[in-house]
Amino acid sequence: MNFLQERIEKDGRVLSERILKVDNFLNHTIDPQLMDQIGKAFADYFKDTKPSKVLTIESGGIAPALMTALHLNIPVIYAKKAKPSTMDNPVSTEVFSFTKQKTYTICMEKEAIVPGDRVLFIDDFLADGQAFKGVEDLMAQTGSTLCGCGFCIEKSFQKGRPYIESKGYPFYSLAPIEKMVDGKIFWLYVQN
Ligand code: 5GP
Repeated sequence: MNFLQERIEKDGRVLSERILKVDNFLNHTIDPQLMDQIGKAFADYFKDTKPSKVLTIESGGIAPALMTALHLNIPVIYAKKAKPSTMDNPVSTEVFSFTKQKTYTICMEKEAIVPGDRVLFIDDFLADGQAFKGVEDLMAQTGSTLCGCGFCIEKSFQKGRPYIESKGYPFYSLAPIEKMVDGKIFWLYVQN
């Protein structure tokens, strides 16, 4: 089992067959050392895809995306969930939130990512892939290329993984969950 799978088994809480709570090290309280390990793992895996920027969505993706960008020595951009008045030329799209069961708008400055950029998308969770689809849409509006996507935790039983695989994007998840039953996590495979 890798460091993240071990940490999830130790400190994560299965709230239902579909929801895992990781608020004590990833989503609310954040463990910086763990984020550093996550960032290094993603950077090692994706470095040969030659990303020029890391992209994520606030707020859960920011910590792992930032550490990935640090290890790759490239900038990180996070799509925002509210448009600040300081944003000059935003691109935006709608995303349906799995955990909140509502639709929200994400936006970013159009010039933050330019045609020719090779974008690595990093997020905390992959569930139905709605956030990912939103990012695909934002990127289409900027004319950039997605060179890979990395997820800390993947719930393989939801729709996100087959969608991303069908698109053929380089894809890596550190903790792929096959199912959650009676409070116990079953891994799709055990990562080294
Ligand atoms: P998706 O867009 O892939 O349907 O869902 C991904 C987003 O929903 C993640 O960025 C994360 O914020 C949230 N999410 C999905 N499943 C879970 C879960 O089991 N636990 C937590 N804490 N967040 C989740």
